[in-house]
Order: sequence, then C-alpha cells, then structure tokens
Amino acid sequence: MTRYSSSSLPENDGQDQFAKAFHTGPDAMVITDRDTGRFREINTSFTERFGWSREEAIGRTSLQLGIWRNQDDRQRMLDTIAATQRIDGFEVTLLTRSGDERSAHVYGCQIELRGQVCLVLTIRDITRLRAQEQALRDSQERLDLALDSAQLGIWDWHIPSGMLFGSIRAAVLHELPARDFHGPFGEFFACVDEADRRRMRQAYARLTKGPENDYQFTYRAQLGSGEVRYLESRARLYRDTDGQPLRMAGTLLDITEQVLRERSLEASEEKFASLFQGSPDPICVSRVRDGEFIEVNPSFCSTFGWQAEEVIGRSSHQLTFWADHGLRERLFEQLMRDHSLQNVEVQFLTRDEQTITCTVASRLIWVDRQLCILSTFRDVTRRLQSEADLKASQEKFYKAFHSSPDAITITERDSGRYIEVNEGFHRLTGYRPEEVIGQTSVSINIWADPEERLNMIAALKRDGFVHHLEMRGRHRDGTIKTVDVSVEQIELGGLDCLLLTARDTSELRAAEARIQHLAYHDALTDLPNRALLMDRLKQQIALLQRHNLRGALMFLDLDHFKHINDSLGHSVGDAILQMVTARLEASVRQEDTVARLGGDEFVVLLTGIDGSRMETARQVRQLAEKLRDLLAEPMLLDGHRLQITPSIGIALIPDDGATPEDLLKRADIAMYRAKDAGRNTVQLFHASMQKAASERLRLESGLRMAIARREFSLHYQPQIDSRGSRIIGAEALLRWEHPTQGPQSPASFIRVLEDSGLIIEVGHWVIEEACRTCARLLAEGRIAVDEFSLSVNISPRQFRQNDFVERVLESLHKAGLPASLLKLEITEGIVIQQLDDTIARMLRLRQAGVHFAMDDFGTGYSSLTYLKRLPVDSLKIDQSFVRDAPNDSNDAEIVRAIIAMGHSLGLELIAEGVETPEQLALLEEQGCHTYQGYLFSRPVPFDDFVALLPDGKTKRAP
Ligand code: C2E
Ligand code: CA
Ligand code: CA
Repeated sequence: MTRYSSSSLPENDGQDQFAKAFHTGPDAMVITDRDTGRFREINTSFTERFGWSREEAIGRTSLQLGIWRNQDDRQRMLDTIAATQRIDGFEVTLLTRSGDERSAHVYGCQIELRGQVCLVLTIRDITRLRAQEQALRDSQERLDLALDSAQLGIWDWHIPSGMLFGSIRAAVLHELPARDFHGPFGEFFACVDEADRRRMRQAYARLTKGPENDYQFTYRAQLGSGEVRYLESRARLYRDTDGQPLRMAGTLLDITEQVLRERSLEASEEKFASLFQGSPDPICVSRVRDGEFIEVNPSFCSTFGWQAEEVIGRSSHQLTFWADHGLRERLFEQLMRDHSLQNVEVQFLTRDEQTITCTVASRLIWVDRQLCILSTFRDVTRRLQSEADLKASQEKFYKAFHSSPDAITITERDSGRYIEVNEGFHRLTGYRPEEVIGQTSVSINIWADPEERLNMIAALKRDGFVHHLEMRGRHRDGTIKTVDVSVEQIELGGLDCLLLTARDTSELRAAEARIQHLAYHDALTDLPNRALLMDRLKQQIALLQRHNLRGALMFLDLDHFKHINDSLGHSVGDAILQMVTARLEASVRQEDTVARLGGDEFVVLLTGIDGSRMETARQVRQLAEKLRDLLAEPMLLDGHRLQITPSIGIALIPDDGATPEDLLKRADIAMYRAKDAGRNTVQLFHASMQKAASERLRLESGLRMAIARREFSLHYQPQIDSRGSRIIGAEALLRWEHPTQGPQSPASFIRVLEDSGLIIEVGHWVIEEACRTCARLLAEGRIAVDEFSLSVNISPRQFRQNDFVERVLESLHKAGLPASLLKLEITEGIVIQQLDDTIARMLRLRQAGVHFAMDDFGTGYSSLTYLKRLPVDSLKIDQSFVRDAPNDSNDAEIVRAIIAMGHSLGLELIAEGVETPEQLALLEEQGCHTYQGYLFSRPVPFDDFVALLPDGKTKRAP
C-alpha cells in the first residue's frame, strides 16, 4: 500500500519519482478538490480501469461522471475523511464509463496543494478477488450440496494430535449430536462395533506401512435402538515431507439399505436356485433366440425321461418335446405378445414317447443378457385320469341313484331343501320329483313322527352319518310306512349335501311279523302253537294268582283221528282239523285261548273263572261237555259223513299245577284217562291219575326188562267147529308173567307195547314162537296141514314195518311151517292205513299161502268197499256183539248182518267170546258154526292146549 504524506506533492518541483509512481502505479489514483469535488489529476490506471480520459475527467466531479453506484458511499467517505483525515480500505462499488461494476477498496488522505485542500485517493480494484471469493463460496456450497445429496458425511483426522473433524452428517451417522464434530478420534468412532474397530486398526496399520494411500472400509455402527447401521468410509492418508502420516480425510456413506438389499437378493437368488433344483414340478429355461434349453431341473428330467446333458444345448424341436408343434408356435407368439402364459394345458412327449399332459406357465426372463423363457410344468395326466374316473363314477352314481329300488334324496344340508330325488322316492312317497325339489321334508310333511326326525338330525350331527335307522314315513296318501334310513354327507359342486336312502321295510316287517306269527302259530289252523300256549299259560298263571281267580286247561284228543287221516287222506284230515278249530273257537270266549299242539291234539285255556274249586270244576266240566257234543256233531266232508269225538282231560289252574309244564302234563294225563274210559268222555285231573300215569311209565320199563328176561309166553285158545266139536285152529295170545307181580293183563300192557314201539320186537317173537310150536304140533302129528290154522294177532305198527312180509316168511321158513297153517289177525286200523300198501303186503303173504282174518269186525269203520278189495279169508265177529246178542236185538241184528255179509263175500266167519250155549245157538242159527270162547276153553299154556288136541288126552266139547 502506498502512502502519501500531505507534504509530498506529485507535481511539485519535478519530483519525478513521485509523479512516476502516481502515473504508473497498478492502482487507479485520483486527486480531487475537496471542496468542489472536481478531479485535478487522474492516473493512467484510472483511465484504463474506468474508461475516462484525462480530458473527460479533469475538472469534473465523480458525481458528474457517475462513478458511484451508491452515492451514499461518497458522503460516508467524505464524512470519514473529515473526521479522521483519512480513509483506509473503504469498500465501495464503482461504475466504469461503460457502466460495469467494480468492487474497490479506497484509501485516501487530505493534502494541501497550492493552498487548496485536496484529496488523494487510491482505488484498488478488488473485483477479481471478490469474484474469486464468490466462486470459492459457491463451490463450497456446491460441495456441501453434493455431499448432502450423496448423503455423504466427511471427516478429517489430524493424526499427530488425534483430533478429528466431522461434518454434521458424519456426526449424525455416528449418532452424535447434529452439529459439526470436533473432538478426539476415539469419541467419533465410539459407536463402532468392537470387532470392526479391530479390523479398522489392522487396515490402518497396513495402510501406514504400505505404499497405498487410499483406504476403503465398511463397518457397523451400533445404534441406540439396537439396530445396526452399515457405514462405508473412503479416505486418503496424507503424509508429511518425511513420509509420516499427517492427516487422513474421507467420506462416510450409509450403505445399510444396500447391504440389506444385497443380502436379501443373495437369499432370493439362493432361494430361486434351490426352488429350481428342488421343485417337484419340472422347470426349464430356454433361449428365445434359438429355442435351446439352457437349464432344466431334476424334476424335468425325471418327468420327461431325459438326462440334463441330453437336453441342454438342444431345442425342444430337436427333442420332439411338443406333441403338437403348431400349438407350440401359437403359444410362443402369445408369450412374446403378453410376456407370460398362465396354466395352459399342453401335451408333451417323453423320451420314450409317452404322452404327458401338463399345465404350463411361462414368462420371459433375462439370463446373461439373453432373453429366455422360464417354463414351469405341472403333470396333470393323473389328475385328468382321476377326473375321468370321477366322471365315470359320477355317471355310475347317477345310474345307481336313478335305478335304485330304494328312495334316494339329495338335500342341501343347511336348508334341508331337496335338490334331487329318484324314482324310488316317487314309488315310496307318491311325490314326483318336480313336486318336491326346492321343498323340505318338513314342508311336505314326509316324516310321520317329528321326534324321529329330530333324532335322526341329532345322530347326524353327532356321528356325521346315520346307518339303518328305522323311521316312519308318510306316503302322500297318508299311509304310514316303516323305512330303514341311512344318511351320508356328501359334497356336490362345493355344496354340503345329505344323501338319504330310505328302504321300505313295511313288507319286510310284515314278513317278519308273519315269521313271528308262524313261529307261534300252527300253519294249518292258524291257532297258537305249543310255544305260544306255554307263553300265555305262564302269563295267566301269574295273572290269576294276582287276582285270586281260577282257570282251566283242557286237553282234547280226537278219537281215532289217525284212522280217518290214513283212510280218507290228509286233505280230509286237514279239513276235519280246521272244522274242529272253527267249532272250538266259536264256543269259547274271546279271552280264552284255543291252541293246537300238533296232530289231533288241541288245548283250550280258560281264564278268569271266579269261584271255589268245586264251582270251577263244575263250570269247566259243563263247558267241556258242551264242546264234546259240539265236536261230535257229524261233519260232511268230501261226500263223507263223519263223526269225530274227542277225549277231553282237564287240569284246573292253579289247583292242579303251578307251572305251564305241570298243568299241561296233568291235563294230558286226564285226557288219557278219558281215552281209557272208552273215549268220547271228559275227565278232570285227579291226584290218583298221576299215579296211573306213573304206573304206565313203570309198566313200560318193566316191559323192556321183560324182553331181556324172556318173561313173555304164549297161550293158545282153541277155535272150534261147532258142527263136529272139532278143534280147527287156535289163537295165540301173549302173556306176561311179572317176576314179582304175577300175570299182567294184556289189555293194559299190549297198549303200552304199542305206544312205546316195543310191540315190533315182541310181535316178531310172537310170530316166531307161534310158527315154532305149530310146526312142532305138525311134526308131532297132533294137527294136520289141511285141518288146522294158527291165528296170530298183528298190531298196526308191526304190520307197517318195512320188512314185515320178509320176517313172516322167514319165520315160516325157519320153523319149517307151511304158510297155509298161519293166519294173521289184522284189525280195521291196519286196513285203512295206506290201503294200497296194505293190500300189496297182504297179497304177497297170501301168495305164499298165509291167510288173513279181520279181527274185531264191526267195531271200526269197515265198509264193504274195502272188504271187497282186501284179500281176507275170514271175519271175526267182535265179542261185544256176541256177548249181548241174545239179549240185545240190535246186537243180534248186527251179528246177522255181518254173517250175511261174510257169506255173500264168500268169507269164513268166526265168532269170539262165546261163553254161553245161547250165544252159540244164536250164531249157529244165523249160519256161523265156528267160534272160540270160554264156552269151549280159555286161552291156555301150550302144554294144556296140546292136551286138548284129539290125539292127546282128548277133551271133547260138550
Ligand atoms: P283179541 O284179539 O280180541 O283177543 C281175544 C280176547 O278175548 C283175548 O283177550 C281172550 O282171552 C278173550 N276171550 C276169549 N274168549 C273169551 C270169552 O269167552 N269171554 C271173554 N270175556 N273174553 C274172551 P286177551 O288175551 O286178554 O287179549 C286181549 C287183546 O290183546 C287181544 O284181543 C288182542 O287184541 C291183544 N293181543 C293178545 N295177544 C296179542 C299178540 O300176541 N299180539 C297182538 N298184537 N295183540 C295181542
Ligand atoms: Ca285176536
Ligand atoms: Ca278180537
């Protein structure tokens, strides 16, 4: 800075040096008159800088030249000079001649020049400086802006002092207060993770040793929130002239987001790779340009059969991968247009040319700057197959639904509305599908019992199904039907539905009831059978006991029913049983039970009789007699006029037993007693009968032992021809001598033999024994072949034995007896059972020479019709007629008729039971000369009989 003292004047005395300095100085200089402000002198620099020439400027004021930009500046300058006599670097803005602005520092002082006070002013142009300063400011701002917009923080570390400067952002990134940081290095990096700080130190150590000065480092700043911020620092190391580290300055950038993004990107890439490799669905990547596969996954290989290396580098066309190439081209165009394809169904060919149907999804992707197609396949071959199967099964279901004999309905589960009903439903309920679809079971009132419906719903909720629930449904006409209901839950088109099947079990129930009925009823008469009778009896016993009443059990057995059945046929027998049933049912009260035990056995259970035992017995007997009379009334059947009589046994309840079994047994015993008493009678059970019954049992076991012990023997009763009092034959009669009880009555034991079947064995013995003794008589010459016959009684059961004929012939053969000597006595009972078979048997024996006599003739059902056909030789007039004939004209008439009949048929006649000469006389009178009876001889043991024979010690008839 040049300073002019007021004592040194530029134009004074040629002081050339001063003038030269004034005129050649680099700064513009002017001298002005203080009071007028006129320029007195300017220098070259002024002219150059402000554009005014000397001539233009000298004599004029600065105001006239318009030098001041702010005229106030001039006054301030003058005021300052007035006050201090000088100005020093007064900053102003001045204008040049052409109007350009110039920043300037003005220096000046007052001087006296030729008596005049002048101002010497030096104007230093600082325009460039100012511009440079501005430019620096601007660039600093721009840097800040740039740092800011790059979100960079900066720091500057002075290494020898350890002090560090950090920008606001740098401070903030380190979670320091939001202002410039100026403090120790360690404080600035306090938030850095311990491990990172160690790495940072190691990196710095490497940097100080090595030639490199640039440094880049990423570290983690631990934030107070617990989060981690990733910071990247780029810095440069500055060294002093000795190469020692002096400063290090750098930037800081928050790269947290980038790190995290990269991490997730890494993860997603990994994910993609593992998805690609591990996907169960085939995936491939192919290049758009040439269609070549560049990547396939393992599923692709296993599905389509190619190895990855067979596929990669080849195009689908080369592989014949697409079944339809045209489709491939169309889809390719679509993909190019839309950039993606969604679930298109396509057929592909595998390596071994199997067709696989897949749904394909494709999209375009970039791989290594090549446009590619990423395709994912889903093999739906099996799904399509199962869809087809499903469709088939649905069709089957449809058929089953519509053709089922059961009623089937499908209802919406929640609303209960019918969606579909079948023909079976129409049959069962009477409703047509169009009448019920959309309705509910409640609205058409199909269930008879609302409670049953609620039970069904409850079961459905509980178990999810209903199986075989018996319910009652209502037909549209109101009839109630029992149905067997099953319900399943099904889904139809995404809708929860119920499939209900109902089977009409009314018929089944009826059949069941019928079976039940049959189990308890007799098929022929529809009467309760034994089981039901026992059941009712049991109930009645308890009931009567409770009410202190009496009842009765009536056991009825039809007399000689078996004969009728056998002779007239089963249909007649059945008709009789039905008629008996009707008669019985008609004559008892509603509350009484008529039961059939089987065969011709009926039981009537009478209940609720009030009164004493005596009174009850009287009433019941009365009723029984009434029944007996009623049953005995003739029946007209099939042209036959038949009379059936019953034998009735009665047991009183509870007097005669406390259990059904006891009561039935006792009524049965009473019934047997009635039979014994000559049939067609009523017997009330009495304790003594029990004895008789057990007696019978005892007898039977006695008879069994008798066979083993050979306690049987035969007695012989001679048969006489009254005209010469000559023995013409004998009847063999069975005798049993009990070891302790002596001789037993044939009348009782023979019946037991027959009932028990023992007669077969015993009867056979009789025949053999008879043949043997007769042969002996013949051999001994006591009888002659043509003049004697031995009669043997044959029981029906014996005659029915299959080998009866053979046994008889064998007995004859064994004994060596001519068959003509044997005469078999049969009863009408034998004859009328299976007439044809009877005749056949008789004929075979007759052929061998055996004779037949019809025993007890007149007591049975014998009719002329049978008699004519039967190969019998003689009739035996029953002793009951013979006995009374002399006194009873009726019996005499019968005897007469029998004899007449015998004669007309050419049959021999023999009367039995002839005890008196009157009886014999009557017989002879009628032309019957043959007889047997006490009159001549009782049945006698063999030896006695032999004695009666002519060649023995002859006993002559009177
Ligand atoms: P039946 O065939 O009518 O036999 C004649 C019965 O009359 C015999 O009774 C005989 O003793 C009896 N009698 C004979 N003359 C007179 C008489 O003048 N007055 C009376 N009151 N009775 C006379 P018996 O021996 O007690 O036999 C009874 C029945 O037993 C027989 O009746 C016969 O049906 C049966 N019977 C006897 N022996 C046999 C046999 O070996 N086999 C079979 N199946 N039945 C036999
Ligand atoms: Ca006989
Ligand atoms: Ca007889």
